[in-house]
Amino acid sequence: MSDLPDEPQNYTVLVVEDDPHTAELLAYTLSSAGFQVFTAASGPDALKKLEIVMVDLIVSDVMMPEMDGFKMREKIVQDTVLRDIPFVFLTAKGTSEDQIRGLSSGADEYVTKPFDPQVLIARIHAVLRRRENFSRVARLDTLTGLLNRTTLEREVQRELARIKRYPADGSLVFLDIDGFKQVNDTFGHAAGDRALLQLASALTKDIRSVDIVGRYGGEEFVLYFPETPEPVGIRIVERMMAMFRNLSKDELNGPLTFSAGLAEAPRDGVDFAGLVEKADQAMYTAKRRGKAQVVPWRPDLADTTLPAL
Ligand SMILES: [Mg+2]
Repeated sequence: MSDLPDEPQNYTVLVVEDDPHTAELLAYTLSSAGFQVFTAASGPDALKKLEIVMVDLIVSDVMMPEMDGFKMREKIVQDTVLRDIPFVFLTAKGTSEDQIRGLSSGADEYVTKPFDPQVLIARIHAVLRRRENFSRVARLDTLTGLLNRTTLEREVQRELARIKRYPADGSLVFLDIDGFKQVNDTFGHAAGDRALLQLASALTKDIRSVDIVGRYGGEEFVLYFPETPEPVGIRIVERMMAMFRNLSKDELNGPLTFSAGLAEAPRDGVDFAGLVEKADQAMYTAKRRGKAQVVPWRPDLADTTLPAL
């Protein structure tokens, strides 16, 4: 059973190789197999590139000046965002000790040079299939198919790390279905689950591939829209609200709504927890103001002492 998509060019690979001829051969082999290829000539160069491009796989040499492949692997393992990227060593260092060292660092494969390009591609496909099977289960919320909380946090953090280097406005949204407890109490948990699925469709129908949508907890969802300033973020969320009303209108007692709060990065912060806290606070203000609306975070919201509805 293959889980690789029909379009392998969806996969991006970073090749880390100091020898220009080998790098060229690898780039040629991988792009012929349909991968999108980035190259780095050293460990530090690779780590710099990984801060700005999101890759699906890393193929790395071991013997390189400045920082060898094992050292670079150590750095990657210390980074919560990078450590789960599938990793293949491709090296002339072929002793048992080398292979054991490579594999025990968490690398998925250890291929020795000289290598057969077709065998390398087959091994890479096998790595991606294993990871895909594993990650589909581990990354997604089982009911809604959206990102689960752990993955959501990781992906938003990756975006936030990117805007620290290349400033751009992003919108983080915290939203919560209005009257969800009542739906469950009145119509049962199956109806509650259907409402969650309808919301999941409303949140994903019109988004771009770069947008991040995840289930944060029970009936709470967090979204992150890169390159999206507050006013645009608000319009997107209002459109999602209209769609949610429409999808849920024929069931239960009429259309369902949600309340949402929005924080803008980097203006309101660049750390996940801080932005979620602010967007959550703005979401509570939306509840107090009568629900079914999106409220942007402002410093004075913290002074509000009215009880939440
Ligand atoms: Mg080398």
